[in-house]
Amino acid sequence: MDFSRVQSLVETHGTPTLFLSENRLCESYRRLKTALPGVALYYAVKSNAAIEFVSILKKEGAHFDVCSNGEIDIIRQAGISPDICLNTHPIHRDSDIRYAIDFGIKLFVIDNENEIPKFLPYLDKAEILIRLSIQNPNCLVNLSHKFGVAPELAFDLMRKTADAGLLVKGICFHCGSQNQNALKYLEALEYCRDICRKAALRHIPIDIIDIGGGFPIDYLTPVQPIEEFCAPINDYLDRYFSRYRIIAEPGRVLSGPAMTLATRVIGKSLRSGVWWYYLDEGVYGSFSGKIYDHADYPMFLSRPGQRYDSVLAGPTCDSIDVPYEHVALPQLDIGDLLVFESMGAYTSASASTFNGFTKAKIIVVE
Ligand SMILES: *Cc1c(COP(=O)(O)O)cnc(C)c1O
Repeated sequence: MDFSRVQSLVETHGTPTLFLSENRLCESYRRLKTALPGVALYYAVKSNAAIEFVSILKKEGAHFDVCSNGEIDIIRQAGISPDICLNTHPIHRDSDIRYAIDFGIKLFVIDNENEIPKFLPYLDKAEILIRLSIQNPNCLVNLSHKFGVAPELAFDLMRKTADAGLLVKGICFHCGSQNQNALKYLEALEYCRDICRKAALRHIPIDIIDIGGGFPIDYLTPVQPIEEFCAPINDYLDRYFSRYRIIAEPGRVLSGPAMTLATRVIGKSLRSGVWWYYLDEGVYGSFSGKIYDHADYPMFLSRPGQRYDSVLAGPTCDSIDVPYEHVALPQLDIGDLLVFESMGAYTSASASTFNGFTKAKIIVVE
């Protein structure tokens, strides 16, 4: 969003504020839809659960990936039908399963055999995807550290699940968030082919392949355009999975670019020769993504001039609340506006009200 546009918006809305561009969100959805033709897109609500995101994506025709009762409540509040939702959390409490099934969700994920008995009371109501672990150590966020069955053990889990009387519908994986290596999807799909072959031999009629999320966006450095990134994945799906229903669970690629943060300098102090600027937003707020998501956001300011080694600190009294250290900045004044782009994914989603500072408000624009 244009800096001057943000400047005029904050005159009305103040700071700290996250501006959600409806156009941008719709554009990202449509681009991904075109880049992955025939793939059902389940928005990963985890990346930004604000009802504004969910409502805009509902209008666009998105489906939804939810992981908790709280996320189900948001979906329900937005008037979304359970038919277009799936639950991708691989570890369930009985109360979570019941809550999701009472809402009407059918499709669940498991990654180990201790989950099987939990679904036995819902034999006719639940359908199961088996989650693979796909290691991607080079990725910004490795989502297979905690979840997923080793691919070579996946068919055994699938067989046990089917033998217990559950309806196994397919396979899912997540090759890491902000994954810049499209070949990781092919590696995962290669494992899926092998598992599908074994399933066919055992007459387990699976028909869903869920390729997860992970699609990358521009932060400080541009990534491959999404059309190019998805091209080899499409080719592979066309060639080997044309008879399957393909699902993806995009989070960041939809929510990330849609939000812009406006924050102001509320104090400044020269400490040991270094300028410290205190902002009205910090790592307990929207900059929580700096810690949990390891993300770095493009920064814009209007003041020209020589730059000095500086620090940008958040508003709370905790010393960890320092979003930027050793950043070269011109001399700022109290009241100066700083704008950060690509602030939609894993930012306000993991923000808290620690120390009594309220979360940045979200304003939908356009
Ligand atoms: C977090 C998550 C996603 C979304 O991942 P992105 O990298 O934001 O696209 C999708 N599926 C599952 C199971 C997740 O945990």
